[in-house]
Amino acid sequence: MEENKNTLRNPSVVSGLVKKYQFAFQKKYGQNFLIDGNILDKIIQASELTKEDGVLEIGPGIGTMTQELARAAGKVVSVEIDKMLLPILAETLKEYENVTVINEDILKVDLKQLAEEQFENRPISVTANLPYYITTPIIMNLFESGIPLKSITIMVQKEVADRMQAGPGSKDYGALSLAVQYYAKPEIVTYVSAGCFMPKPKVGSAVIQLKKYEIPPVKVQDEAFLFQVIRGAFHQRRKTLVNGLTNYFSGKYTKEQVQTVLLELGLPLTIRGEALTLDQFAKLSDRLLQ
Ligand code: SAM
Repeated sequence: MEENKNTLRNPSVVSGLVKKYQFAFQKKYGQNFLIDGNILDKIIQASELTKEDGVLEIGPGIGTMTQELARAAGKVVSVEIDKMLLPILAETLKEYENVTVINEDILKVDLKQLAEEQFENRPISVTANLPYYITTPIIMNLFESGIPLKSITIMVQKEVADRMQAGPGSKDYGALSLAVQYYAKPEIVTYVSAGCFMPKPKVGSAVIQLKKYEIPPVKVQDEAFLFQVIRGAFHQRRKTLVNGLTNYFSGKYTKEQVQTVLLELGLPLTIRGEALTLDQFAKLSDRLLQ
């Protein structure tokens, strides 16, 4: 894509808009705008959009990524919480008729209704430079809402991307890794330095893609209970799985009952949650239910 002096890829154009509209960056909304054209291209490329696709963007900011999404996809719906950005978006997106901006908190949006009304239940690609302070609830809401997701391509804090991709035995492996990997195949697209944003964030960033599985890789009797077991296994990371689960479910299972299940699964009684695969968690949760 061409680097144009007048595009939002140019930091001085971004500064000009900020000044013109007397926009004050709000830390509480995680406002760090992307100003690096190469990273922008990588995100758009990874999203693999066609003119048939519908895109949900969370937090369009001043519309830098929104413009590119509008060129690549059939329809774009961008949800932005900060009403101070609306006049800027009206200017930067005026030429793009396939974009709808919704002034809402993404955590309060009824995603099912949005999928129905805006995308007529067609598969949705989510592409976003996320507000980092609510990364996990946004991702879990997207998965748990049951909307027809195709993929999620998002900028997140580097450590969070590492956690989503981590496997058993790694220090980054935990409840988030397992929850994400139950729904999707995560793949880090690129790491991104603080200099690619205005203003610069204090943390490193990464673009990660979550390719939604049609069917989860493991089958369980009760999905909600699987996630409870996973939370129980990690809520006291340093404890053994037996102690962690017994404490977490306080009174529901005795230590001996948890030990019996572990033995049935061929797992050592001293094992910690961080050593179990998703498949082992699935078996564990089904056994505990019985
Ligand atoms: N997409 C823009 C870019 O790449 O330059 C801005 C990304 S900035 C990291 C995050 C954006 O999310 C900001 O525009 C912020 O106002 C918006 N935001 C923060 N919390 C939000 C929420 N709860 N619902 C919707 N948007 C939110």
